[in-house]
Amino acid sequence: RTSGRLGGLNSENGGAPDAKNLRVKLVLLGDSGVGKSCIVLRFVRGQFDPTSKVTVGASFLSQTIALQDSTTVKFEIWDTAGQERYAALAPLYYRGAAVAVVVYDITSPDSFTKAQYWVKELQKHGSPDIVMALVGNKADLQEKREVPVQDGIDYAEKNGMFFIETSAKTADNINQLFEEIAKRLPRPSPS
Ligand code: GDP
Repeated sequence: RTSGRLGGLNSENGGAPDAKNLRVKLVLLGDSGVGKSCIVLRFVRGQFDPTSKVTVGASFLSQTIALQDSTTVKFEIWDTAGQERYAALAPLYYRGAAVAVVVYDITSPDSFTKAQYWVKELQKHGSPDIVMALVGNKADLQEKREVPVQDGIDYAEKNGMFFIETSAKTADNINQLFEEIAKRLPRPSPS
């Protein structure tokens, strides 16, 4: 198994007494072609369908997961096609986002460079307590790998991000990505 993950080692929520239902806005960022739509489709529909294009500027898909402590988290996932065309809308896109998932393709060093650009943008414009994940996708393409796993780990660690490698094609680590994000969300304090 070559996929790795690392992040701020938040302890799991230590058994909150009440079930909480969280609803969070999640924005996806990354170069075109890294697999953002495929990751969302894999997570939401359990499918890998490279021909379907679900990305539309202002729409989102949602998916709810239940955690072991009986918290449920409803992700509202925003994915924009052609990021650059929406550059002027970026602050609107980031607004209210509790989670940002920055995706690159492990076979593309350019996409890794671009991911670092998006992280800087988020640090400038995103909410200060945003949960950020760095995702190296297409982990099934080991023989074409050009971004060492350690580079992703190191960059994520420096920037306080959770890191994981995924494959939307084989489903490897897709559910884990969203579960780990859910665990890192700030919880409303029990009243
Ligand atoms: P987006 O532009 O970031 O939304 O990328 P897409 O989701 O449209 O995917 C771009 C291309 O990468 C498609 O041809 C997918 O078939 C392919 N792809 C996406 N995820 C994976 C993956 O995990 N492994 C492999 N081998 N190909 C993938």
